Amino acid sequence: MNRYLASFGFFLALFAKISAQDFSYLPLVQEGTVHLTLFVEKVDNQSGQVHINGSDTRQPNVPFLWNFGDGTVILGWFPQDHTYNDKSRNYVVTVSSDGESASTLILFRAPEYVPVELPNRSLVMVETKERTLISRWYDPVETRRFNPEDFGVLNRECVQHVASAMANIQLEYTNNKVWFCDNQSFNQIIYKAGTSGGYSTWYTSPPSFAVGSDAFRNQVWWNTLSHEMGHNISLNFPSAYHIGGRIDGSANAIYSETMAQILGLCTGYDLINQAKQFGLSDDLAYLLRGEFNNGFRIVRDGYRSYIQNLAPFVSWNDPSTLADETFGVFMTLAFEFIKWAEQSDEKVSWYVTRLMDFFSYFDKNWEDQYDRSSNSQEGNSFRSTLMVAAFSFSFKEDLRDHYRALNFPIDDKVYLDLMNQVTTGSEGLKVWSEISVYPNPTSDFITISGLPRGTEVKVTIRDLTGREMISMIAAEPSKPLSIDFTGFKAGIYVVGIYESERILRFFQIIKE
Ligand SMILES: [Zn+2]
Repeated sequence: MNRYLASFGFFLALFAKISAQDFSYLPLVQEGTVHLTLFVEKVDNQSGQVHINGSDTRQPNVPFLWNFGDGTVILGWFPQDHTYNDKSRNYVVTVSSDGESASTLILFRAPEYVPVELPNRSLVMVETKERTLISRWYDPVETRRFNPEDFGVLNRECVQHVASAMANIQLEYTNNKVWFCDNQSFNQIIYKAGTSGGYSTWYTSPPSFAVGSDAFRNQVWWNTLSHEMGHNISLNFPSAYHIGGRIDGSANAIYSETMAQILGLCTGYDLINQAKQFGLSDDLAYLLRGEFNNGFRIVRDGYRSYIQNLAPFVSWNDPSTLADETFGVFMTLAFEFIKWAEQSDEKVSWYVTRLMDFFSYFDKNWEDQYDRSSNSQEGNSFRSTLMVAAFSFSFKEDLRDHYRALNFPIDDKVYLDLMNQVTTGSEGLKVWSEISVYPNPTSDFITISGLPRGTEVKVTIRDLTGREMISMIAAEPSKPLSIDFTGFKAGIYVVGIYESERILRFFQIIKE
């Protein structure tokens, strides 16, 4: 473990510079119809022979260009058989035709990962036994376990590691204003769903979600895992006034589905772009790309159909119909947010964090106006204005005209009230953004600056097992605080900053 941790800081520094923009959803924004598809029908681990099929709906009359990833390049039709001599590694097969190409990963062995330690407050565990989870809102939840035969080429440990990395990223988005189970962790449980899809049971302690029985079998449902975790985060937020349950019912989706899509897909973006930092091999990153790209395509297509149908704004899902009438609205919001976040100057995570900052002001007053149980005109207009104000705050740009053109009903008074509350209503946001800890990674000292003045500020340093190394009261919060790390082993440490025993922020610091 220490060997890996020693190189962790190096990867962090190097990787951030070289491939910050390595993975992006932007190429899919303009993507036209995909004609070319391929799929692996058989992989023989003994002989090394693979059988690959596929199709091109354009039915070209010149053969396809096949690159098997082992130096073999041929022209040929579907299907193709190919034999690999070296079965100690995996191969990306690419097929091209007339400006389009498709690729797939041939797996002879499980994709590798380095189990870099992750903070023990954002772990995700796949259920190994059945139990009853207590509920904070609705009925208790009976879990179902996943058995060894439910896993394919990626085993339980690998799934848990990647899912925990996702949860770690999502927790960072919230500035730790999410509800913490027993005041200290947001560890989540994945159990087997009774149905074929996934769903969030955010209200259990600890928070949990379910996925279908084949979620881990062949292609792991990475995007679904990230999406359901996005529900868990955004519905258990803010810590003092969980939004979930206060907006449930037929009007929930404009907030809950928009947020789950944004959190889920942005997590994919950040995870793939920091794959090395989380110990993920190129093969694993390849599999993640495929799943998250497909997730983004669904969102994009939802946006496209909303525009094609002349933007029929609805925020109320009529319970008497099978379809969810709000689908196009939340997909449009999620699509545009992700696209703008990638196209704008700051990092994607910066915009997501501001979005969460906005919703951290959710209170009884917002809940009443959200009007979750009736299809009222006021409720409809508030829900629409709430999302537009949140986006406007996030991107520091008044987006009212943009969304009016997409038929979103916007109440100017509500918009201004919301913006006022969030930008001037509290010093809280300023405090969040002003605290900084540097340098990171460090080899000797860290400095904490921007601590809130006039209150008792406590600083703790814990290692990844949760053991407290240092606990101190900042004598003069107005002055930068210096903490000696020279006696600590190389690894990740969590700096906790508390104001009158209330968690203000956590930072992860790497000691080299
Ligand atoms: Zn969902």
